[in-house]
Amino acid sequence: MARDRFWDPEIETIPRKQLHSLQLDRLRWQVDRCYRESPFYRERFDRAGVRPSHLQTLEDLRHFPIVTKEDLRREQEAHPPFGRYVVAPRGTWQELHPSTGTTGRPVNTIWSREDARVIADHTARTMWSFGTRPHDIVQNAFSYGLWVAGMAVHYACALIGCFVIPIGAGTTQRQIDYFLSPGSTVLLATPSFALHIAEALRERGIHPEEIPLRIGCFGGEPGAEVPETRRRIEEGLGIDCYDYYGLGEIAPTFASECTEKNGLHWAEDHYLIEVVHPETHEPLPPGEVGILVMTHLTREATPMIRYLTNDYGRVDLEPCKCGRTHGRIVGGILGRADDLVIYRGAKFYPVQVEGVVRRMPELSDEFRIELSRDERGMDRVTIVVECTRVLEEAEQQRLVERLRGAFKEALQVTPEVRIVPFGTLERTVFKARRLVDLRQQER
Ligand SMILES: [Zn+2]
Repeated sequence: MARDRFWDPEIETIPRKQLHSLQLDRLRWQVDRCYRESPFYRERFDRAGVRPSHLQTLEDLRHFPIVTKEDLRREQEAHPPFGRYVVAPRGTWQELHPSTGTTGRPVNTIWSREDARVIADHTARTMWSFGTRPHDIVQNAFSYGLWVAGMAVHYACALIGCFVIPIGAGTTQRQIDYFLSPGSTVLLATPSFALHIAEALRERGIHPEEIPLRIGCFGGEPGAEVPETRRRIEEGLGIDCYDYYGLGEIAPTFASECTEKNGLHWAEDHYLIEVVHPETHEPLPPGEVGILVMTHLTREATPMIRYLTNDYGRVDLEPCKCGRTHGRIVGGILGRADDLVIYRGAKFYPVQVEGVVRRMPELSDEFRIELSRDERGMDRVTIVVECTRVLEEAEQQRLVERLRGAFKEALQVTPEVRIVPFGTLERTVFKARRLVDLRQQER
């Protein structure tokens, strides 16, 4: 019975006291080996005046230094190609996964054979939690190759025993062909791509009820937990939509919603999450919004101890109705520190704009946030949206006014609004770049 509800009943329903003791054992093992075998960590710990023996409780981790992506980048440049934080011997390495490099030069991550096994297993755990079963046909539209999520899901499908279609990101029309035959039942993609596929499905005149697809889980960027986005995906594809979370340096697909849709359960037996203040980096109590900091409890090859993710979130450790005892990041990832727009004293994230755009039935799923400067050199924010039908001049003006009002309420500032014809904005099969900064180009 429990086997049917959970992938790994024992670990997923472990009492929290027992979980903490398991986490502490694993954390001490990890910190100890990093201190002994990685000059990168040893130098940092020494500078901060901390030793592995200082780790008596999980809370003691707060005294250890934070690691940023820039630290990793600098370390890999000084000690190419992988830096001095590779702890497992070369013979144990299985594969290389550099970051996408969207925020600078890529950072290399290595999975040992054991790391890949663990990742496959907890990915299977997440897939099981949102309802994937061995009889499912899984259409894996996550990008394959260097990007982490495609491979992780592929390995997990083999573990569960699913029939997998390794289509990868791209070829929108073929995605639809496989919905029709052999009839995929589970779809994995970025939320942007899911909306794009739904749009193409509508254009082909196929009703969602004509395809057997029943579940989708969407990651690589936030969106699936924005209520209006979730509704558009669910209605457009005729499925239950779930949120997926992961990141290159930590792991792909290690946190997902369960069928309760009650936040992202993460694999607490492998990953420790702290929530810290964005400026001081001091840990915040559970329930407060801050930046997520992650530690690998079991990773062999390139372990991270207190990695600062730049992702904002809120953590809930209360039990979930599904019976899992592992914590949840509730409400999804609330924004990336890199994407914060500061405009005339107000601060907002693209995900807040998304909430407004997707609530308006006359707008398409696409939008852009353009940052530019006006003639006087003042910052200007323009939100570009697509209208699904042709509007009269007066009608268009009314829509612009309505949008400006809605944005003012959601963002506390009033941006410019530009309406463009349906199909003008580029569709993506991977991660959308919705924030466009034109200020540099103008100078
Ligand atoms: Zn749950």
